[in-house]
Amino acid sequence: MCGVSTLTSVPFLNLKKQYLSIRSEIDQAIHDVLETCNYVKGKDVAAFAKGFSEYLGAGYCIGVGNGTDALEIALKALNVGPGDEVITVPNTFIATVEAIIAVGAVPVLVDIDYDTYTLDPVHLEAAINDKTAAIIPVHLYGMPCDMDAINEIAVKKGIPIVCDAAQAHGTRYRGKHVSCYGSISTYSFYPGKNLGACGDAGAVVTDDPGLATRIRMLADHGRQDKYLHQVIGSNSRLDSLQAAILNIKLQYLETWNDRRKEIVKLYNQGLADIDNVTLPLVPEYAEPCWHQYVIRADTRDELKNYLSKRGVETGIHYPVPIPEQPALKNAVVRCDRARLVTMCNQILSLPVCPEMDDSMAHYVVDSIHDYFKCRMEQ
Ligand SMILES: *Cc1c(COP(=O)(O)O)cnc(C)c1O
Repeated sequence: MCGVSTLTSVPFLNLKKQYLSIRSEIDQAIHDVLETCNYVKGKDVAAFAKGFSEYLGAGYCIGVGNGTDALEIALKALNVGPGDEVITVPNTFIATVEAIIAVGAVPVLVDIDYDTYTLDPVHLEAAINDKTAAIIPVHLYGMPCDMDAINEIAVKKGIPIVCDAAQAHGTRYRGKHVSCYGSISTYSFYPGKNLGACGDAGAVVTDDPGLATRIRMLADHGRQDKYLHQVIGSNSRLDSLQAAILNIKLQYLETWNDRRKEIVKLYNQGLADIDNVTLPLVPEYAEPCWHQYVIRADTRDELKNYLSKRGVETGIHYPVPIPEQPALKNAVVRCDRARLVTMCNQILSLPVCPEMDDSMAHYVVDSIHDYFKCRMEQ
């Protein structure tokens, strides 16, 4: 047991297996785009906007180039720019903060709730001032932020919310999709997300018709008409090939998310009795889509290494918090850096992709048990 050997291998992601499971449909969809030659805009892009907004119960969905552009376009649509501050969290993928800086605003990083890894409404309220132009809660790991509490503060102060839902396809808050909360939500369809394209893709979702019009223009050269440009925008359209692929994959999203939930159940049952591991906490309001299943352990690096030798691939999301990134010297840091760094040294994402079978989940559980048993014997 303590002499480590690999009995099986558990990949963190298995995009190949996912593709093979729907190969004929994907191949047909790609073939159809090639045949019709509608490479930009066209029916697949429109169908995806319709399909995804219907799935979410949202008014409007505008396909864009990727999840980072989606955030930047959302902020521009709200007229966030130089002189403004945007409040977000310090434990997110760099893109959240890149978008704030790209529009000329200053990111203000506030403390999170360390049980849910999401924006803490108390710290949010304390960080709001006259310069605050927007709030970006991040539904990290697919865990919804406490939107009622955040919304109450935002409404009281008259500040719009842009939710970064790049990891939250299918996540519900109090029974409704997370995109039902806030002014705008943004999605990424990067290949590894719960709904992933075969390349870069993203979407901006809103219920506000005025914002939808602005977002559509901003993502397409500020166009009001083909050669009439109302505002200075950019070229960030959802690609037709990616839209065609996403139309197929969207039909499987709920099934895939359900499979993630089954794996999570096996992890929760199998790991509950290990004292040295903190499991994800799910608040009563939350129905996460389990983009990541993140545990915490003091000896994280050693555990990660042990699992790797056992053939279990794991991840760290994210190892370096935003305030410690060399590129971010001018961010306003209003959070406890030391606590954040400690957390980043403890978190470990276990594989939770829908292509895993039960035996793989059991193998991950057994391997973690073995690691702690071996440690005690040393
Ligand atoms: C993936 C991701 C993004 C960026 O999406 P891209 O499509 O890769 O540009 C933004 N925010 C979060 C939290 C993400 O996980």
